[in-house]
Order: sequence, then C-alpha cells, then structure tokens
Amino acid sequence: MQDSLERQSPTVLPLTAKDVKDLRKNPGYSNVDIFTYEETRLATKQFRPDYILGEGGFGVVYKGVIDENVRPGYKSTAVAVKELNPDGFQGDREWLAEVNYLGQLSHPNLVKLIGYCCEDEHRLLVYEYMASGSLEKHLFRRVGCNLTWSKRMKIALDAAKGLAFLHGAERPVIYRDFKTSNILLDADFNAKLSDFGLAKDGPMGDQTHVSTRVMGTYGYAAPEYVMTGHLTARSDVYGFGVVLLEMLLGRRAMDKSRPSREHNLVEWARPLLNHNKKLMRILDPRMEGQYSARTAMKVANLAYQCLSQNPKGRPLMSQVVELLETFQTTEVTHEEAMLNTGAGGITLYEAPNKSSHSPMKNRNPARSESHRQVETRRRSAANGRSKSEPPKDFDLYDPPRIEAEDKPESNRG
Ligand code: AMP
Repeated sequence: MQDSLERQSPTVLPLTAKDVKDLRKNPGYSNVDIFTYEETRLATKQFRPDYILGEGGFGVVYKGVIDENVRPGYKSTAVAVKELNPDGFQGDREWLAEVNYLGQLSHPNLVKLIGYCCEDEHRLLVYEYMASGSLEKHLFRRVGCNLTWSKRMKIALDAAKGLAFLHGAERPVIYRDFKTSNILLDADFNAKLSDFGLAKDGPMGDQTHVSTRVMGTYGYAAPEYVMTGHLTARSDVYGFGVVLLEMLLGRRAMDKSRPSREHNLVEWARPLLNHNKKLMRILDPRMEGQYSARTAMKVANLAYQCLSQNPKGRPLMSQVVELLETFQTTEVTHEEAMLNTGAGGITLYEAPNKSSHSPMKNRNPARSESHRQVETRRRSAANGRSKSEPPKDFDLYDPPRIEAEDKPESNRG
C-alpha cells in the first residue's frame, strides 16, 4: 500500500516563500488549496467546540469536512483544521514553515496538507483527517490500550520511513520535533508525521551541521544538540530512539510522577536495554505474550544505538527502516501464541512479514459563549514549544503532565 522510499526520494525543494507577503504573491504549491476564512468556518461548522480534536502549542485543531457546501465541486473530504493561536510570538514563522515543507513534500508517512488560509490576519492549516488521533493518546491511555506489539512495530516502521524520506531528500530536512504527539494514526493505524513547525533545512555539501537556536521538547532532544545548537539528521535519530523506547516500555520520555531516578526515561532505561532479563522486566506489561524475547532484544538494541551519546554511533534512518522491516509480524493473538508455543512463556511464534511492508483574533462578535470559552483556551495555550519555557538560551518545550484521557478525543463530532 505504501510506496517505497526509492520511488519517493530524492526530492527537490523548489523556492520557498520567505514570508506571508511572498506566499501571497506566489501561492502556487500545486497540490495545496487556498481556502478563504469563510470556507474554513463552513467546514468546521463555525468552529464548533464539540468539533475540537485537540490542541497543540500552535493552536486548536477542529474536525471538518470540505464538500460541495463549502466549495462547489469539491469532492467531500474529511479534514482537520488547525487555527493558529493569535498570541504566539513565533506563530507566523512556524505556520509558514509548515506550509513550505508540507506544501512541497509528499510521502505516505507525512500528513498531507490539503490547504491553508492566510486571509487578513487569519492563519489556518487544513490537513487530511487522521481518524485515530495521536500515538501519544493511544500509548499513554490508562485503560484500553490496544497497541499490540505488531501494531507498535508497524508504527515505528512508518514513522522511521517518514524521517528517512526527509533525511534522504536532495535538500535534507531535519524534523526536529519527533515525539509521540506528532505521530498521527489514520483509521487503519498507518502512522504519519505531522507538525513541521520546527523543521529545518539540513546541512548541505561540506557542512557537517546547521547552527540553530535550540528548540524541541525536553526528553526527546539529542544531548549534543541541546549543548551546542548543532543540528544534524542524527538529532532526529535520537528522538526516534526515545519514541521507540516509549513504545517498548509504555512509559513517557519525561514522567515526574515516577521516582526521581526514573523521571528521565532514557537515563533510567538505556543501561538496562542490553540485559536480557532486566529488559524483560521493564517491557510494557500490556504487550506480554505478543513478542519473542529474541526480537524484543533486537528492537531494544536498536533503541540503544539510536540513543548513543555519540551522534556518529547512531544508525541512519534508512538503516533503521531496513532493520525494522525485518521485525514486522502479522498480528498474533495471545491465545494463538500460547497454542504455538504450547507453553505460557514469552518466546512466541512470529509469522514473517509477507507483504513488502506491509488563530487569529476572533473578529466575529456573533460567536457564542462556548466559542468564547474556546478562545480563552486558545489564548491560555502559549505558542509553540515556548508554552512552558521562556525563550532564554533555548526553547525546549517541557510537556506538562497531561493524562491522555483528559485530552479531547480525536474522533468526536
Ligand atoms: P498539534 O497542534 O499538531 O500537536 O495537534 C494537536 C492535536 O490535534 C493532536 O494531538 C491530535 O489529537 C489532533 N490533530 C492534529 N492534526 C490532526 C489531524 N490531521 N487529524 C486528526 N487529528 C489531528
């Protein structure tokens, strides 16, 4: 179903808009539609509060439909509409980065940008609707997590393909904010990267790195990047290692509710990853009976490599993809697994993978009270990753402790 990397890459990025004025003069990203503010209002039923899918640092995200009623002749398309928070000081920059990158890059493992609106001071992004919401929501829900081992391996592979595609582009792109909340899942649990607000052009030619102000999310950013501001594709590999670890262990990258030595997942778990018995004790108990000890060791070793303190000791994302392809299994129920082994142990049958891989200010006084409540929510959400950290030396977003159940469901409305 998914195209190979080879067919997708390399990608040449055409000229990108430097600012909104520039974008208005040259609006031509061929696959991206330009919507009026009225069209986005119609698509979201006037930004109905019960259509809210979630909220990131950027602003509130609504479910919507673009159809005949929104624009005559438009094929009915389920969408997610993200409205930029008006008080964000880096808002325009991040909004434009998203339009520039997603307007030009197309891959099955990147969320498709269907269109945007930049009428007057309104800044909105219209994406393909990802029916199952974020990986974060599924992985850290307290009850009813249905992420089996094989689903997690498939999600890891999909996300790795997305990063490998970005790194393999003729002008490499560094994603810079790889984390579970930025990995979205469609109705079939195919994973795609969203939120390109922090993406950056990677080093070219003789350059070994690009120098940037440090931005990202605590717990996911590579140590050398945090210390020096030197950004390379290997910083994304580190972030990938953190997410892989979160998926293996079912624990958050940063969790202040745990004993202090376990606050930082990588610091606590990395030394345990190469010890068979210790590893088995820390793997997410919700996956018990779904994997072989041998494969679990291999995947843990991959996470270990990605989390190397030495950036050159980390694999390339293309190598990560190759390796993860070999770990793909078809879904095996616990009962089947028990039959196959004839025992209650955890060394189970694994079928080889047969398939190749398988806001701008509210200027409308007519808005209701519930809309005003949403506005308040929008404003209280500080912009971007700066939500938690003032832009002093660096802008690492320190995620607040949010229980997955507290977040709005992604498939409301
Ligand atoms: P973001 O600002 O990209 O972090 O998005 C905030 C939340 O909105 C995500 O965690 C998702 O729950 C939801 N969301 C964002 N984009 C989409 C999309 N394309 N489809 C469905 N839900 C989305």
